Amino acid sequence: MSRVKGKDTKPELIVRKILHSMGYRYRLHHPNLPGKPDIVLSRHKKIVLVNGCFWHGHENCNRAKLPTTNHDFWANKIAKNMERDRFNINELEERGWEVLTIWSCEISKSELLKTKLAKFMRGSNNA
Ligand SMILES: [Zn+2]
Repeated sequence: MSRVKGKDTKPELIVRKILHSMGYRYRLHHPNLPGKPDIVLSRHKKIVLVNGCFWHGHENCNRAKLPTTNHDFWANKIAKNMERDRFNINELEERGWEVLTIWSCEISKSELLKTKLAKFMRGSNNA
């Protein structure tokens, strides 16, 4: 399962850079929280997850299309990842964290991405 989330993947670096430029400070891969979330903004009680569309099963996303070869294998694997993601997010929310998921397909739309992060940090996220 270690391939599910590579550390310091490029999309994550981009999100970190944006948050940093907005003046937010964060911890990475917090070991004591469910799922070792990517970016933890402890002071704000907020967490940003940066998910690869394929591995985390981004709904209605081109990048999340399953291969036709070994389709069942992949469908099963991705379904498990999604289930674990939901479980982790629930756990985090129950502990009072606010969680935002950024998908890798959103990384290239830098203006939208910045808006989404800014909104979330200001506390008006419903995405
Ligand atoms: Zn996507």
